[in-house]
Amino acid sequence: MTTVITPQLTYSERLQAVLNKAPQLFVDGEWCASSHDKTVPVYDPATAKVITHIVDASETDVNRAVAAARCAFDDGRWTKLPPAARQKFLLKLADLVDENADSLAELEAVDNGKPLTIARGFDIPRCAEILRYMAGWIAKVTGDAQDPLAAPAGTFHAYVRREPIGVAAQIVPWNLPLFMAVMKIAPALAAGCTVVLKPAEQTSLSALRLADLIAEAGIPAGVVNIITGRGEACGDQLVRHPDVDKVAFTGSTQTGKMINRAATDTLKRVTLELGGKAPLIVMPDADIAAAAEGSAGSIFFNSGQICIAGSRLFAHRSVFDKVVEGVSSQAAGWKMGPSLAPDSRMGPLVSDEQFGRVMSYIDSGKKDGASIMAGGDAPSVDGYYVSPTVLADVSPGMKVVDEEIFGPVLVAQRFDDLDEVIKAANATPFGLSASVWTKDLSTMHRLAASIKAGTVWGNCNAKVDPALPFGGYKQSGLGREQAQDGIRAYMETKTVMIAL
Ligand code: NAD
Repeated sequence: MTTVITPQLTYSERLQAVLNKAPQLFVDGEWCASSHDKTVPVYDPATAKVITHIVDASETDVNRAVAAARCAFDDGRWTKLPPAARQKFLLKLADLVDENADSLAELEAVDNGKPLTIARGFDIPRCAEILRYMAGWIAKVTGDAQDPLAAPAGTFHAYVRREPIGVAAQIVPWNLPLFMAVMKIAPALAAGCTVVLKPAEQTSLSALRLADLIAEAGIPAGVVNIITGRGEACGDQLVRHPDVDKVAFTGSTQTGKMINRAATDTLKRVTLELGGKAPLIVMPDADIAAAAEGSAGSIFFNSGQICIAGSRLFAHRSVFDKVVEGVSSQAAGWKMGPSLAPDSRMGPLVSDEQFGRVMSYIDSGKKDGASIMAGGDAPSVDGYYVSPTVLADVSPGMKVVDEEIFGPVLVAQRFDDLDEVIKAANATPFGLSASVWTKDLSTMHRLAASIKAGTVWGNCNAKVDPALPFGGYKQSGLGREQAQDGIRAYMETKTVMIAL
């Protein structure tokens, strides 16, 4: 059957006006030109056409942005504000995100390829939510008083303070562009740090638009600086910069390792949110229809470009065929279409490069003998669309099973008992998340305790909540974001001991 993809809709005047702007950087509270004239083209993934350009920041630009953040931190214009004042700024920014949700969503859709309905219904509201949540922590991160172990009572006043680390370099990927940016900025500002943010070169438009809102919210100049450009150039310079105290990165495990090494020279504080290859386990007693729907939603949402996508389905032998049949028929309901069409459920992949990467995984699966239960192809149109794909008859050792694909491709395997599936689920260098489907409480808790992952969901999937810590075991990351852990990741612990 040939899949018909409708053409992209005409851009609104509001969107076109943003795209017509000259490429600029947001440094020290102002829009400024780069020190050189290098730019990066920006594509609409639904048409594969260039829609605008962004600055490919030079080393001089990076130095300028870090100097602005350094100065803003050192002179205390942010850190020394009363907590209530910082809180007001974050809440104001959250309100502005809400007020501008339609235009932000439109920008995100044409930049990333995701359906406008998802950008408007998921990405943008989550940004306002995390800003409000982190604003709530500002006056609540406390220190402790503690009597020393070896001193007689009353001879010392000893206490522990939490202080902002300093200048944070924040580098984010292209899959949830604004949400990832705000997930970084919100806790850093709540902790009292200042920031240089570099969004992914494929999807910088919403972060640049956020800069306008940051200025409108009245956040002091230099507290948030946003630069754009290629990771291997300005991203690397940012990470190595001696005036950066903390690096927070979300992206691939490969880049995360490079960043960790680059940050070592000056022993910067580092947090990393990296790749995943999450198992989704279906036990024989599970609600099979719900599990199949959950599994499809987990791998096809955002065209599978999600670090927590349940990309390895393990179904008990007794229910395997039913589950795979269920997920495969769900695939047909994930209507592919251009980002601005209101009935699109799955957009194109973000870039030509990602399209080539995902298709080469599908080809390797076919060559290795996988059976195509759904999809396995790409519609022949200009955009970067890949059909929602389910592969069965796969086994460890195949690239499609062992490696993160980061596309709408599910691999399905059978198992017979709990020990076998625990071993198989953990047989990966990743450990970001997992999902378990069963009605049996004992099985649920045994699996939750045995799977090496930062988050385990039971009878649901991909529920990331600001109040709960998020991060990876093993090569899926270092440290945690969100919850109190998220703000602590931007703070140093200081012990004070005063002899009385
Ligand atoms: P990527 O690692 O290629 O790029 C991410 C960011 O790093 C971009 O801004 C890029 O410009 C920058 N970068 C690249 N090389 C750099 C270098 N040498 N120094 C400094 N910066 C550099 O990742 P991607 O392809 O944009 O994103 C997909 C990956 O992100 C997947 O592996 C996915 O699992 C992961 N991801 C993880 C999470 C999480 O929370 N764990 C969330 C989203 C995405």
